[in-house]
Amino acid sequence: MSGTSKNGPAKSLTIHQDAQIMIDKAREEGITTVWDRLADQQPQCGYCALGLSCRNCAMGPCRIDPFGEGPQKGVCGADADVIVARNLGRTIAAGSSSHSDHGRDILEAFGDLARGQATGYRIADEGKLRRIAAEVGVVTEHRTVEEVATDLTNVLQEDYGTRRGSLSFVARAPEVRRARWDALGITPRGIDRENVEMLHRTHMGVDNDYVNTLLHALRTGLADGWGGSMIATELSDVMFGTPTPVMSEVNLGVLKTDQVNIAMHGHNPLLSDAICTAAEDPQLVELARSVGAKGINIVGLCCTGNEMLMRRGVPMAGNHLTQELVLITGALEAMVVDYQCIMPSIVDVAKCYHTKIISTSDKAKFTGATHVPFEPEHGAKIAEEIVRIAVEAYPNRNHGRVRIPGQPVKMMGGFSIEAILGALGGTPKPLVDAIAAGSIRGAVAVVGCNNPKLPQDLEHIELTRRLIENDILVLVTGCAAVANGKAGHMVPDAAAMAGPGLRAVCEALGIPPVLHVGSCVDNSRIMVLMAALADYLGVDIDQLPVAGAAPEWYSEKAVAIGAYVVASGVTTVLGVQPPVFGSPHVVGLLANGLESVVGATFVVEPDPAKAALFIRRHIESKRRGLGLSCFEPETLGIDDNESAHTVPVGAAVGA
Ligand code: SF4
Ligand code: SF4
Repeated sequence: MSGTSKNGPAKSLTIHQDAQIMIDKAREEGITTVWDRLADQQPQCGYCALGLSCRNCAMGPCRIDPFGEGPQKGVCGADADVIVARNLGRTIAAGSSSHSDHGRDILEAFGDLARGQATGYRIADEGKLRRIAAEVGVVTEHRTVEEVATDLTNVLQEDYGTRRGSLSFVARAPEVRRARWDALGITPRGIDRENVEMLHRTHMGVDNDYVNTLLHALRTGLADGWGGSMIATELSDVMFGTPTPVMSEVNLGVLKTDQVNIAMHGHNPLLSDAICTAAEDPQLVELARSVGAKGINIVGLCCTGNEMLMRRGVPMAGNHLTQELVLITGALEAMVVDYQCIMPSIVDVAKCYHTKIISTSDKAKFTGATHVPFEPEHGAKIAEEIVRIAVEAYPNRNHGRVRIPGQPVKMMGGFSIEAILGALGGTPKPLVDAIAAGSIRGAVAVVGCNNPKLPQDLEHIELTRRLIENDILVLVTGCAAVANGKAGHMVPDAAAMAGPGLRAVCEALGIPPVLHVGSCVDNSRIMVLMAALADYLGVDIDQLPVAGAAPEWYSEKAVAIGAYVVASGVTTVLGVQPPVFGSPHVVGLLANGLESVVGATFVVEPDPAKAALFIRRHIESKRRGLGLSCFEPETLGIDDNESAHTVPVGAAVGA
């Protein structure tokens, strides 16, 4: 291994000092990180970057010459439009499958729990269980929790494979939106069905009409957002508790020099919840003391971290690009992983220290890791075994190599939709009133990943800062939430960073201007909120003054999220160019054509100032459509004054 500085100084790779210190430590210790490997990959393939390469069959691989001089058709005759659309469809299917398979794992554990076959789990929110069950047609009156949970399991399992009409939770979308999906033929029918059909359609010689392929890609995304992800979120709330506002801390400073540190990384709360419980076991705490530690410290990474923070206030070590850096502190006894967004490289980095990498999912093994298969039926016992492995690693820690950089930053999490509505008095009315009065101009979901092609978290926090300064409420999930937490945007005092209208609302409610809504599957919560706002106003979602943004996305799951958010009527700004620019027709459809079809489009804008400007104009145009007071969108320009309230207030026009 050889860590190098070929990517420039650490401060050009990440905006956070804790991460910069760890990148420098990696270089001093000769450890390779994601940024080194990105440099080694240069130049990356231009055909793939444009979506113009295809290896869907053994007559290929094929590529289309974007300059028009070389081949314009693959061996089978597929042109740029077909190849780009097929690649995008497969990407969305992979992302949708990932979220939905996570949802299936939760559902199966929930079924075990209903049958009394899962140890260490319970129904934490019976009220929500009965609400959801009644919503999907399960009889709840005069029935036990177990009976209701069993019937709910059966209904939701049908959503995966056998349902023929539409998914259960699609009924939550406004009627007018559902009618639009029906008219387009994109109402999701079965979660597995849409994903399988996407793979079928993109086999050589099936769907050779790029518009038809892309419409099914939207349907595949909808099967995620209103299906697999929503099931994951709702059942996680039932089993582990519906989040309520909770204070926590974030950055690498959450590690403890004198405790056994265990980082939980991945996505599924089934494992992490059991580990949190095991870490409080007096016998294991005593074992930790017997090996010289003062206790057991659980910290989170990525979306597993978000799940734990949202429900238990467990501290968060960092987001996607922090996963190698947390190992480089030398202070981690174990990194326990399930699946998704876990770089294979962590095994190599951990070998440089005493840290155990413990894989737990039979569908996500890592060569060189210690594999402890996790079965929800024996969740409590397996979690104890994992914590014991971590504790027993503590005596091997080389304290001379430990460096925990800086102090953690406070952040608030726990803003489920129930919590948001609870803070508003149980109804969207106060939020709608604040939007109607103009004190809040609108709301934006800033979501998604880190990508090493961009300085870590820069886009997330620059975009968010500009939005809240302009009285736009920001909802965050996933790694975007962690980024904003580290930046100090997610404490009630951050209301001082907001424009005067948003600031007043936040101060009155005691909430931050940037609300942590949860993990990546919890983007489904945002869909539920949008539907509730639209229903309250009697409009469709695409008429709301809202937008989405994924400034630093990297993952196939992010593309699936973008697909269902746009298909649901929310225009979404991407900060990283998706591999579609090899087909002007596909780009035209995504950036313009979808407007007349679903009322929303994709926008690619890597500059956070320009992205914020676009979103402000978009929100003002939606306000005008609703007959609300608005600024003339064309009067809004970029103002780089770092601290100014950048909306030109004098440009407001009455409704
Ligand atoms: S499906 Fe067509 S374009 Fe793709 S690899 Fe096969 S022959 Fe080439
Ligand atoms: S936001 Fe992206 S990188 Fe972060 S956990 Fe979710 S999918 Fe993974």
